Amino acid sequence: MLIDARTIISSDSSLNFKFTDIPEAIVDFISPETHIRQVVTEVVARHVLGRIYVTLDIRCEYDSVCARCMENLTRQVETHSDLCYIPEGNEADAEDVDFTTYTGHFIDLSEAIIDGIYSAMPVRDLCVEDCKGICPKCGINLNLESCNCSHKEIDPRLAGLAKLLE
Ligand SMILES: [Zn+2]
Ligand SMILES: [Zn+2]
Repeated sequence: MLIDARTIISSDSSLNFKFTDIPEAIVDFISPETHIRQVVTEVVARHVLGRIYVTLDIRCEYDSVCARCMENLTRQVETHSDLCYIPEGNEADAEDVDFTTYTGHFIDLSEAIIDGIYSAMPVRDLCVEDCKGICPKCGINLNLESCNCSHKEIDPRLAGLAKLLE
């Protein structure tokens, strides 16, 4: 996912780009149950006094499983990032901004896209906010059925007492 710095520098106005590829390295950051279906990245880039300002609007659709009941789910996250790229060697002129350096003529946006998606994804997905999960005793999905297992949490200090009362 490269943009050509020369094109941006030689343009008087901001330029728009659109990427629809999935950055390959994202698999290293997400859980193995998560499968990315689609990533759409809209890019606006403009050149101002030796810096290239880039905004990314990323939409990512993925399949995963509910952290409690393990049912499959499909989610979409959207995220926005504002970035600044500086050609390598010019770092000293840019102490007032957070920036990333680039070498040569191309700016690779893959890492920024991965960062954006990774930070937009919830730590764990739930099918519904109050998903009841799976019964730890009989294993049924408690969203669909109910069971007769006791789900009472017994205070370990009272466990002995509970045994006496059984
Ligand atoms: Zn669930
Ligand atoms: Zn049960």
